[in-house]
Amino acid sequence: MDSEARPLHVLFFPMMAQGHMIPMTDIAKMFALREEVQVSIVTTPLNATRIQSTIDRTAQLSGHHNTTIHLLQLPCSEAGLPDGCENLDMVTTQDMIMAFFKAISLLHHPFEQLVERLRPDCIISDMFLPWTVDVAEKFNIPRLAFHGTSFFSLCVSESIRKHSPHESVASDTEPFLVPKLPHPIEMTRSQIPEHVRTRTPFTDIEEKVKEADLKSYGEVVNSFYELEPDYVKHYREEVIGSDRAWHIGPVSLCNKDEKDMAERGNKALIDANQCMHWLDSREPGSVIYVCFGSLFLIGGAQLMEIALALEESDRPFIWVAKNTDQMEEKWMPDGFEQRTKGKGLIIRGWAPQVMILNHQAVGGFVTHCGWNSLLEGVAAGVPMATWPLFAEQFCNEKLITSVLRIGVEVGAKVWAKDAKDRQVIGREEIKRAMAQLMGGGDEADERRRKASELGEMAKRAVEKGGSSSLDLDRLIDDIKMYGQQAK
Ligand code: UDP
Repeated sequence: MDSEARPLHVLFFPMMAQGHMIPMTDIAKMFALREEVQVSIVTTPLNATRIQSTIDRTAQLSGHHNTTIHLLQLPCSEAGLPDGCENLDMVTTQDMIMAFFKAISLLHHPFEQLVERLRPDCIISDMFLPWTVDVAEKFNIPRLAFHGTSFFSLCVSESIRKHSPHESVASDTEPFLVPKLPHPIEMTRSQIPEHVRTRTPFTDIEEKVKEADLKSYGEVVNSFYELEPDYVKHYREEVIGSDRAWHIGPVSLCNKDEKDMAERGNKALIDANQCMHWLDSREPGSVIYVCFGSLFLIGGAQLMEIALALEESDRPFIWVAKNTDQMEEKWMPDGFEQRTKGKGLIIRGWAPQVMILNHQAVGGFVTHCGWNSLLEGVAAGVPMATWPLFAEQFCNEKLITSVLRIGVEVGAKVWAKDAKDRQVIGREEIKRAMAQLMGGGDEADERRRKASELGEMAKRAVEKGGSSSLDLDRLIDDIKMYGQQAK
């Protein structure tokens, strides 16, 4: 076929973790819905089963089968992982996390062979697959990194990396100002990642990620301009020194079909219709939705406090809860489910989150501040109670509470991956945050007004002619241009 007539072939390689797979599948879908784009997604068999139906529906929507999933086997046993442990949501210990990263790095060679065979025009790969930049370089194609976070967090992390403001405070709890940002942002040492505070095996991974970013063509960001204009500009002008960071989100908004929303990321544990039916019978804005992301990192003692806070708050709720800590079997207070029957819905596993957030009965979201969850909350126009746990979640919290002012802090102070290293937040604190979030008064009304305004802006951003839609056009043009110049 004449190369001029060939569709642009973009290859996606997401990290096998829900918080990365889900938005990258959405991005792949957004590309697939554009004319003259061919899409390849590289993943493992188990992860493929989670996204296959979405891909099939995308083909129906676009009217052509232009997306192919290519399978790579994760060498689990070679890396010391149990067989079939193909997603970070199946990993339970720190040792397993490191083994998981080792298994992923062993995909370098098979991935290179795949790229040699497929010859895509561009690779969009996860930040945690830094060696993909070497593969792209070998075949003279651009590699774009996907970090899965906001411009705000990218700016904060870079400032801390560059200026180490946390080293000039006397204690872990003394606040410091994050230098040279558009707003005065305060953090404490206890809120920044352990691998930034001290050297850990993860510090090495982060260094490789940074090195690969610098060698990459650019970055794709799941955000929209109107949400964080100062940070889009700051990141482009001060951090990377170019406009090769494209904002194309909120990517969750590409899921218009009910099935796509209900099955996003995984098959929901609850029947989506049953869940919607339950919400239909509630007053608008009355339900609190509580979910801590895909990794279920809350320990038994903390789950117990959340249960009691929900019960004593006496408001309707949906709570996505699962105890992954085998040591703490009992976490539900005695008789809790009977007493809250009718008032609360407990989902013990995967929930259809985007569908729930977009139901008019939902009035507030208690979230662990994973970037996908926050942006999904923003896109749905819902105010939030912020409860960060680890990763860059404490940064994300600042954007929501200090800059955008659409959230109430629950009061988490310590970054910790393991539930046992985390302070248990008592039911009184949780109840206070829920009451502030869901209650009346000028502050709460103002939060709701702003959240709803941002929700409208988010929807406009992804419509034809909106800021994110235009940046996706620009990205596609830039990839094409790269190919023409490389010839
Ligand atoms: N999610 C979901 N159902 C669940 C839990 C999570 O659909 O029961 C989705 C959620 O909508 C989001 C992703 O999983 O898209 C979680 O990503 P996030 O960045 O919020 O947190 P992480 O899981 O990476 O900590």
